[in-house]
Amino acid sequence: MTRKPLLIGNWKMFKTSQEANEFINELRRQLATSFQDDREVTLGVPFPSLEAAAQAAVGSPITIAAQNLHWEAEGAFTGEVSGPMLTAAGARAVIIGHSERRQLFGDTNEWINKKLSAALKYSLTPILCLGETWEDRKTGRAFELLGRQLAEALSGLTTPTLVPLVIAYEPVWAIGTGQTATPKTAQETHAFIRQWLTAHYDHSFANAVRLLYGGSVKPDNVAQLMDQTDIDGALVGGASLKPDSFARIINFDR
Ligand code: PEP
Repeated sequence: MTRKPLLIGNWKMFKTSQEANEFINELRRQLATSFQDDREVTLGVPFPSLEAAAQAAVGSPITIAAQNLHWEAEGAFTGEVSGPMLTAAGARAVIIGHSERRQLFGDTNEWINKKLSAALKYSLTPILCLGETWEDRKTGRAFELLGRQLAEALSGLTTPTLVPLVIAYEPVWAIGTGQTATPKTAQETHAFIRQWLTAHYDHSFANAVRLLYGGSVKPDNVAQLMDQTDIDGALVGGASLKPDSFARIINFDR
């Protein structure tokens, strides 16, 4: 089974629509001569910049993701944005359950499960983020915690509906800290996630799901991470904010 590498930038709360447009034009310029189509590229963009980003990406290998969604299609939910609104703005994927949303905005596994269902319903590729804290890792409870996040996030969801799922393993202690998980730790954890999927679904689904690593991925550590059997891509925060460093990550040597 070959899983096509997927490199996703998560811009968090950075970049106006004009900045998004300029970034994508520059990234396209940098990729024009170097891009290899054995990999895919996605940018996770703030809501107000989605439409400009999607327009700037037309005709390029870049697809656009949102960073959150509400599970209802519409309603009295002040400040929320729905799946149909995201697709209308040009998003084709959505990041769900990022640790910043879990820690700062109260996203629970139950909400994440509803968001995942909604993303699938509205044809958005869900990028489900999981990750343990340093405390969980230190005390040997990382896999237990990740197993619970998987079970609750995927509760009631079955194949083939789940087929587009992408999972990003992002240890909380590695996000924005400069402290990357070692390739060995990341690989062991990805292997655990794939085994969990095999046990709860089936081998062919588990084998096809792309598992991305996220947490201080940089141009100089991406190749080593991507070299691991069960690492199929990267979710990149800080290093996706400059076209040059994100282009270097996209162009990692295989
Ligand atoms: C992220 O935002 O998902 C992330 C992994 O950030 P960073 O690459 O900056 O650690």
